Amino acid sequence: MTTTNQYAMQDPRTQYPQPEFDRQPQSAPGLAREMSPKPDHGEASYQGFGRLAGRKALITGADSGIGRAAAIAFAREGADVALSYLPSEEKDAQEVVALVRAAGVKAVALPGDIGDEAFSKALVREAHATLGGLDVLVNVAGKQTAVKQIADLTTEQFEATFRINVTAMFWLCQAAVALMPPGSTIVNTTSIQGYQPSSTLLEYASTKAAITAFTKALAKQVIEQGIRVNAVAPGPVWTPLQPSGGQPADAIPDLGSKTPIGRPGQPAELASVYVLLASQESSYVTGEIYGVTGGNHLP
Ligand code: NAD
Ligand code: MG
Repeated sequence: MTTTNQYAMQDPRTQYPQPEFDRQPQSAPGLAREMSPKPDHGEASYQGFGRLAGRKALITGADSGIGRAAAIAFAREGADVALSYLPSEEKDAQEVVALVRAAGVKAVALPGDIGDEAFSKALVREAHATLGGLDVLVNVAGKQTAVKQIADLTTEQFEATFRINVTAMFWLCQAAVALMPPGSTIVNTTSIQGYQPSSTLLEYASTKAAITAFTKALAKQVIEQGIRVNAVAPGPVWTPLQPSGGQPADAIPDLGSKTPIGRPGQPAELASVYVLLASQESSYVTGEIYGVTGGNHLP
């Protein structure tokens, strides 16, 4: 694993690994433990300051990548965490369960397919029951599959990407707001792709534009219950999503090279933004999209 002191002043261009990387193909959804270099999710570095003390959070995609970094940070900030992921990701997930428990808070593992409406609704109910409440929902799970030509993009893939990225987020938000007290927060995960779409990510980029609009609309609606809703828009980040079909295989070696910072982000560099948007520190922020893009900023 890459270990960097994320609090020491340094040049951000050389803070974490830079291209080139190996192609390292995996089949989706991929595992963090198979990546080289290993992503940094803040395992050895993230310091908590009690910013989420006593909070009860459900995080999807919590086994790897950005969701794992959020889970580690939330636990070290004092939140109990329910972790959603796919059954095939159990090995990654068990590493996160151990890290969360090591922080002295509760970890609840809830594997299953959020593309199933009944499962998604049961997931929220189960998180609420086992954590003894629910006041943060962090939607990180997502599907990204690059296809170079529209002629080769199947209806099945088009609909599956919308189902995981957009429809499941809707089900999870709908079930959660019914249970959440005032002061609760929802943090969604959109992407730079919603603003600057790549030619190879036709339907994925479209789902991310949808997530951005959904976030802004829901924020205006549920503030009447005292709930805030925001989203994070990452640029290229070193996670299993990318080498497991998220990019054409030939794009992995120089992932992130076209950003001004010149390298992909590491999941650890996203965690503090999720903490900020989930916590009371962002009390006057709702309906916002927060870019973490390596310099390819949002419009
Ligand atoms: P990741 O592969 O580590 O995380 C994605 C997670 O989604 C998986 O771990 C899996 O648990 C979950 N998931 C996928 N399908 C699911 C299903 N049917 N049911 C339940 N869970 C499912 O990769 P990541 O890059 O950390 O992705 C997290 C989010 O960040 C995604 O929404 C992705 O679109 C977004 N994002 C990633 C990047 C990037 O460059 N990596 C850039 C912008 C946005
Ligand atoms: Mg995963």
